[in-house]
Amino acid sequence: MSRYFSPRYSSLVPYVPGEQPQDRSYLKLNTNESPFPPSPGVLAAVAREAARLNLYSDPDARALRAKMAETYGVAPDRVIVSNGSDEVLNFAFMAFASEVCPLVFPDITYGFYPVFAELNRLPYTEIPVKDDLSIDPADYSKGGKKTVVIANPNAPTGRFLPLDEIEGIVKANRDGVVIVDEAYIDFGGKSAVPLTDRYDNLLVVGTFSKSRSMAGARLGFAVGSPDLIADLNTIRNSVNPYNVNRMTLAAGVAALCDDEYYRANCEKIVAAREWTAERLSALGFTVVPSTANFLFARHPAIGGRELYLLLKERGILIRHFDKARIADFNRITVGTREQMETLVASIQTILKEKGE
Ligand SMILES: *Cc1c(COP(=O)(O)O)cnc(C)c1O
Repeated sequence: MSRYFSPRYSSLVPYVPGEQPQDRSYLKLNTNESPFPPSPGVLAAVAREAARLNLYSDPDARALRAKMAETYGVAPDRVIVSNGSDEVLNFAFMAFASEVCPLVFPDITYGFYPVFAELNRLPYTEIPVKDDLSIDPADYSKGGKKTVVIANPNAPTGRFLPLDEIEGIVKANRDGVVIVDEAYIDFGGKSAVPLTDRYDNLLVVGTFSKSRSMAGARLGFAVGSPDLIADLNTIRNSVNPYNVNRMTLAAGVAALCDDEYYRANCEKIVAAREWTAERLSALGFTVVPSTANFLFARHPAIGGRELYLLLKERGILIRHFDKARIADFNRITVGTREQMETLVASIQTILKEKGE
């Protein structure tokens, strides 16, 4: 730290993304990316827009928001797009949480939430999930005015909270905004977007990073009432009105036009997930029921960190979190069926070598 670093931020502990090592080639099952490339339409759109990089991108993202509106069945003024969904999550924390409307989220959830809270000096409370790692909706439906943040399906557990439970939380918190982060909704969950018609305190956040194979393009979005979206635009236009670049805007439109391709990919991933969950269970793992493109699992005979390290030696990356309640677990991204067969074979060998 330099002696010039502001004391405002000197105790900030940044978010640590999953590793992206360059020392050799790995089977990457650690950051929940899609194993499938973007659709041909997306590749063509990016090439087309690259020739226009001398011009600023549309600060209102009109073409993309119109296409999003059509896809999600909402009016364009109920959509905002962002540089990855992390950006719009940060905007939402800035816009809606405060001393008088503190943040509340689960203790086991996306690691960026406490970081955004600390960055913006916002008070927050982490509510323990139950022993089975599920969220108890009752915990979020009592108490005073607050800003609730729930990833649904949750990360890194993969557990999905049914929509009527989400609706109950939204109803119980009419004096605060409920932010539902649907990064993994396309792998079998049911989106809360239709509820944004009825509840002006519900903000649904989504991303093109997982189900739409665009993690490297950085495209996220939020859907809510026109007033919530206007507030988010006030923040966005005070930070970076050109927050989404030209190529990514065009790629987003093209991806939505190629919906069928991405839907088919999601189906393949869901099938590979179910196959892998079954195989891991047969090998003695406890596997948390997942509605996402990853599995959260632990084995009685091998520690989470140990399994992570042994797989890394074999060229396979999975994600281990050094966090007390979940240290025995690993989060395994679901890739293609073939990739999962490689993973399961390696785990089988590792367990055999341990005498299991
Ligand atoms: C991956 C992820 C995101 C953000 O992804 P972006 O690439 O920034 O769109 C947001 N929330 C959760 C829970 C995630 O796992």
